[in-house]
Amino acid sequence: MTETSTLIILGASGDLTERLLLPGLASLLKSDRGVDVKLIGTGRSERSPKEWDAVVKTAFNGDAGSDLAKRTLASSEYIQGDPTSPAHLEKLFEASEGDPVMYFALPPAISVKVIKALEKITLPEGLRLALEKPFGSDEAGARDLNEELLKVVSEDRIHRTDHFLGRSTVLDIIGLRFANRLFEPVWNSDNIAKVEIFYDEILGLEGRAQYYDKAGALIDMIQSHLLQILAIIAMDAPASIDAVELRSEIARVLRATWVKDGDPITASRRGQYAAGTISGKEVPAYADEDGVDDARQTETLAEVEFEIKTRRWAGVPFVLRSGKGMSKIRKEVLITFKPVPVLPAGLKGASSPDSLRIEISPETLELGVTTNGKGNPFSLEKSVFKTDLGKPELTPYGEVLSGIFHDDPTLSIRGDVAERCWAIVQPVIDAWKSNMVPLETYPAGSSGPVEWETSKEA
Ligand code: NDP
Repeated sequence: MTETSTLIILGASGDLTERLLLPGLASLLKSDRGVDVKLIGTGRSERSPKEWDAVVKTAFNGDAGSDLAKRTLASSEYIQGDPTSPAHLEKLFEASEGDPVMYFALPPAISVKVIKALEKITLPEGLRLALEKPFGSDEAGARDLNEELLKVVSEDRIHRTDHFLGRSTVLDIIGLRFANRLFEPVWNSDNIAKVEIFYDEILGLEGRAQYYDKAGALIDMIQSHLLQILAIIAMDAPASIDAVELRSEIARVLRATWVKDGDPITASRRGQYAAGTISGKEVPAYADEDGVDDARQTETLAEVEFEIKTRRWAGVPFVLRSGKGMSKIRKEVLITFKPVPVLPAGLKGASSPDSLRIEISPETLELGVTTNGKGNPFSLEKSVFKTDLGKPELTPYGEVLSGIFHDDPTLSIRGDVAERCWAIVQPVIDAWKSNMVPLETYPAGSSGPVEWETSKEA
């Protein structure tokens, strides 16, 4: 029997808890990495025991079969109260068993108040804190937040979560790069022409104006998730996959990452969707959605070109893009290789370069290589080898929670990295705020503003 821990979820009435966190917990409990967890949800909203039970049961849908999941369901409770109140936090710790994990599923400004409240009370030994993105609202804010957190617990007990690092395809990149002879020798500017990371969704705002309108695509996706993927793609080989080595390599490569030529005006573009049609459904303009303040000029599509100033990557553009209300889902890393230095005379080149596409969702790997033509062998073609990487046993949040419960911060963002990711995008934030980059529009359900070139399919 494993030791019991308690998962205290602050903001348990929110979207993250119901949609991602609890299903992630369920996937962990039924896996062979499962732990014995008492679950406590809390928030200012009222929830009767029956209502809370229903929320947890729905999230555990089909997963309640394991003994660990059954025990969590049976012991789970909702304790109503204000998470910023020291007395309420004490009550939550009193109801805990074993070492508690406090998960901040809260708006970031409220999380800061909770941390200040934690400073006022005696904390249980072994307390671990899990914080969501966005971590702070700029570099100085992230630094202040780090300082506050360190007054409460040590760095190894702070988990700044980024569930993209728990996504199996992102983790697969580590194996792909460092566990075979095929790719690592060519993983550099001698052979790679361009790296693009796309995260395009067909979904529009979906009622999340309160959060999204203040963040926008740049902060919601590029500043956090996509920079982490860039780091995994571009880092040097870590000596081992652990919290020290992996996170040091991530930090090192991000310290060398900059907006291309230091010029956000030429290196970035932004757009906002206008009314349009997505999958046959009419979608209102972003600016007309409930809760949107047009004066904020929030972008729903963001693209930034970065450069990595290292021997390995000098001159290779890293283009990161994320959009809402797009015509198709495109969640992938696309690596485009350079052509061979010279083609033997008599061979007619293929129409597009060799490429490697790592699809984040669904999880697939697609290698496009030049081969002899099927009809005329001297007229080269592109052949595509595709494999399904398979569904992982844990959801990304299950992976995140596994790291937290097993005291392994390997997949958590280190404090300095959280600050660095803000510093990397700050020139773009500033340029956009002062309107130095125009906010273009695109119809919902399109591939973006007409003049934006999209990368050719591999
Ligand atoms: P919500 O906006 O749904 O808020 C979560 C809960 O916070 C609410 O249900 C509310 O509970 C509580 N809350 C809101 N305002 C206050 C306040 N003034 N004082 C005390 N409690 C308050 O957030 P999400 O669940 O969507 O997200 C939570 C965190 O996770 C955020 O940091 C977000 O950026 C991050 N995140 C969210 C994702 C998502 O898909 N939802 C994805 C990735 C990260 P009550 O009223 O009961 O107190």
